[in-house]
Amino acid sequence: MKFDVILACGGSGSRCNLGYNKLAFNLGGISVLEKTVSCFNREDADKIIISYNHNDLDWIKTLPLPPNAVLCPGGNTRAQSIKNALKFADCDYVVIHDGARPFLPAKCLSDGLSDALKYGNSVLYVPSTDSLRSIDGDVSFTVDRNSIARIQTPQIFITEEIKRAYSLAEENAEFTDDATLYEYYLQKKIHLTKGSESNIKITTREDCERAIGADIYIGNGWDTHRLGENRDLILGGIKIPHDKGLIAHSDGDVLIHAIMDAILSAMHERDIGTLFPDTDEKYKNISSVKLLEEVLELARSKGFSIKSVSAVIMAQKPKLAPHIVSIEKNLANILSVDENRVSLTATTTEKLGMVGREEGISVSSVATLQKI
Ligand code: MG
Repeated sequence: MKFDVILACGGSGSRCNLGYNKLAFNLGGISVLEKTVSCFNREDADKIIISYNHNDLDWIKTLPLPPNAVLCPGGNTRAQSIKNALKFADCDYVVIHDGARPFLPAKCLSDGLSDALKYGNSVLYVPSTDSLRSIDGDVSFTVDRNSIARIQTPQIFITEEIKRAYSLAEENAEFTDDATLYEYYLQKKIHLTKGSESNIKITTREDCERAIGADIYIGNGWDTHRLGENRDLILGGIKIPHDKGLIAHSDGDVLIHAIMDAILSAMHERDIGTLFPDTDEKYKNISSVKLLEEVLELARSKGFSIKSVSAVIMAQKPKLAPHIVSIEKNLANILSVDENRVSLTATTTEKLGMVGREEGISVSSVATLQKI
């Protein structure tokens, strides 16, 4: 049986907050959209009708799409987009799929197609493994999770039937999926076919991170500052009681400096000495937290997110153990990561070397970043 495919790609993908459509998100050499299209690289797929958002047309035109791909402008709503795309569908069956579900297992598609042939339609679902509650104001009630299914795509219909359902739909009909519209206007029963948890819809930035797995970058950083009189001792943005502080052009936060260098190194950027030269008056006595925030902004702009930071603080005095947890918390807050993603260790150097002689404090740091 031959079938047409409609890929719903009309949205802007703004919930991913990538600055571009999530369909263009790079899954390691291939975009989400190309990967989704590749799920339909099979003999019985006739046309792959891509219902696009006009903002993405220039980009989509650059893609090496298969010869059976057809581009169709989307409408203001999902329903309008599908209705437009259905004009191109002329096989007996049509498979409607989200453009942002690039991991559709071949078996799910095959199961859906054979169920559609048998029952007239097929809609993929997955059971809920979470316990469920229904919320009504400030009260909530347990819902039997066995009575609830999460609906996925593809949703497969007899082309003439789904066209009829769309012809009956009002101009601004708002339906989150085709099965709802089909059921509402044709009063026909939906047949559910077991889908897969791997058939995820990429919706948020976290989904993007999960979709590419562990594309991890690691960087090292090291810094040392001399201890001197009449200076506050600042480590990780926290003032530590001590009779000496670290001498520097900035506030001398040697811990944040090493962490910044680790982050910059993971991104293959130059070090903080280049980024924030100590000859520049605007960095005089500046809080290193401000500099770290600039580094984090640079990371964000380059598509990196911080996954973890580890550092060893080498100081003969003062005793840092009582302050470690509060420094970790402060750094986790600045880095926007969970507290268990910042790990600090403090050590002396057994009175050896410049640290042992209490002339200075050194920090060695490692940062792991993920690029999305
Ligand atoms: Mg420094």
